[in-house]
Amino acid sequence: MRREVIQPEFVEAIPRELEEGVLYISIPFATAVHNCYCGCGNRVVTPLTPFKWKLSYDGEAVWLSPSIGNWSFPCQSHYWIKRNRIQWDGQWSAEEIAAGRKRDLRAQQQHFTSTPAPPAPAFTPPVAPVPEPPIGFWKGLWRKLKLSGSNA
Ligand SMILES: [Zn+2]
Repeated sequence: MRREVIQPEFVEAIPRELEEGVLYISIPFATAVHNCYCGCGNRVVTPLTPFKWKLSYDGEAVWLSPSIGNWSFPCQSHYWIKRNRIQWDGQWSAEEIAAGRKRDLRAQQQHFTSTPAPPAPAFTPPVAPVPEPPIGFWKGLWRKLKLSGSNA
């Protein structure tokens, strides 16, 4: 069943289980994730970068642009998120999809002209990763001192 309204939710990390109709937005990971709003249950990941998606938020509602085209899913759904509402759009032809991908790539290349090209962004985002806590310099030193102390 196609949805008309979404609920934005700002989170630290994207939860494993996604609630239907919610747009999870993680600023630390610069990613928005939702279950496809057609109801097919596929997870849709929209990285927020200058050459992928842009998120706007006015304190109540969110906009996501450009549109989301789920060409890799059987549902092939295509929609816009505007002011917490879903605006359903038509399916793209294979040519349009190819043209869109080329456009993406060009924007990406332009973005990195001054810096060495990074590896292509992975489609799957980090799902609630647990960063390894770095051992502080002083703590490391303290450990070393303690070790050498016990040897003496
Ligand atoms: Zn779908």
